[in-house]
Amino acid sequence: MAFESLTDKLQNVFKNLRKKGRLTEADVKAALKEVKMALLEADVSFKVVKQFMKAVQERAIGQDVMSGLNPGQMVIKIVNEELVKLMGSETTEIALKSGNEVTVLMMVGLQGAGKTTTTAKLAGKLKSKGKKPLLAACDVYRPAAIKQLQVNGEKQGVDVFSMGDKNSPVDIAKAAYEHAKNEKYNVLILDTAGRLHIDEDMMEELEKIKEAITVDQTLLVVDAMTGQDAVNVAETFGEKVGIDGVILTKMDGDTRGGAALSIKAISGKPILYVGMGEKLSDLEQFYPERMASRILGMGDVMSLIEKAQANLDEEKAKEMEQKFRKNSFGFDDYLESMNQMKNMGGLSSVLSMLPGVGSQMKDLEGMVDEKDMARKEAIILSMTPRERSHPEILNPSRKYRIAKGAGVDVSEVNRMVKQFEQAKKMMKQMPGLMGGKGGKRGKF
Ligand code: GDP
Repeated sequence: MAFESLTDKLQNVFKNLRKKGRLTEADVKAALKEVKMALLEADVSFKVVKQFMKAVQERAIGQDVMSGLNPGQMVIKIVNEELVKLMGSETTEIALKSGNEVTVLMMVGLQGAGKTTTTAKLAGKLKSKGKKPLLAACDVYRPAAIKQLQVNGEKQGVDVFSMGDKNSPVDIAKAAYEHAKNEKYNVLILDTAGRLHIDEDMMEELEKIKEAITVDQTLLVVDAMTGQDAVNVAETFGEKVGIDGVILTKMDGDTRGGAALSIKAISGKPILYVGMGEKLSDLEQFYPERMASRILGMGDVMSLIEKAQANLDEEKAKEMEQKFRKNSFGFDDYLESMNQMKNMGGLSSVLSMLPGVGSQMKDLEGMVDEKDMARKEAIILSMTPRERSHPEILNPSRKYRIAKGAGVDVSEVNRMVKQFEQAKKMMKQMPGLMGGKGGKRGKF
């Protein structure tokens, strides 16, 4: 999970701050020193950490915090706000021309960063917004790049323009642009060739494409897992080719988070999207505010609600919310919610977005294991309807009977009941998740 260790460390710092009623300047300084260490360990660029700490310190050691009602929370609020600023504050959309005019997006980046995959992911996003994108296979060097784009394009239901690998990328880009205009596509995405390292040939080729056709936006794809290297790549591409925004891939595998936190500050360019997995649907818009909440372990409740709303059946969701309110959430509903969570990409991805769950993930591992889900289902199906709707009647003899029916040990039944209670408690803390509009962000 992204930012896991940074989140754990920051949560510890803040837990200690919260415990204290009144803070002295020394308390704040000690806490901020730990924040600084945590950021450096997360591979955030040294320059960025220095600037960040200066900004936080100036605000945190001011009168506001000292005289504030709850200084610990005030410090957390300042760190949160500065993190948001660091990542660019506002969400940046890719600017698209209106109507039938073709917007040309050029994808650039090193080989293996995820350019081809991201090109197809992005096309899917634009298509769902009502655009008609065309992908152009300009990577004529990497074997299989063209095929990969064609396969992914087809999966997304998006057309791919290709001229094989015998033409120059510049000629392909020009021909693709003409084709896009003639065939009434309104977005053209050029998948260009990367190299293993930054080299002059690659830069020159990109320059030539830019000279040959009007590229509206150059989007750099970088691998978050490469940490500071990703930041350096962004800086160099920015200087040499000029970029308009960054797409940070493989955030799902990035446990440190340094790239996400440093790129905007170093390259001056915003992160537009983040890649969260290999599947073509795993591309998310980048929201600095939500990302900061996630880093601080306050959970990304907004993304969770959106994900839930996109996947949940409205009717069922409302029904379930009512049940939470009336406290009549039973095992059948639990089973239902488990299935819905499965549709949302597994419990672990959902849980990781919940406030404070980051550090509790290990305790909840049982809930995340999908095989375990099947066993739970067997246990629930061995209950009588009344037991399912009135969990409080489960006594030892009933549990014994259920265990026998499901072919499991009674301790498993006990564990499942405990997890059910935990899940119930957790869901209650998420107003609006189950489809309602009343979702709120995690509070300090
Ligand atoms: P390119 O050389 O830049 O075109 O890179 P590819 O698109 O071929 O991607 C390289 C590898 O990274 C492939 O195995 C992709 O499936 C994988 N990949 C791309 N984006 C992501 C992501 O967001 N998360 C994960 N886990 N893998 C990704």
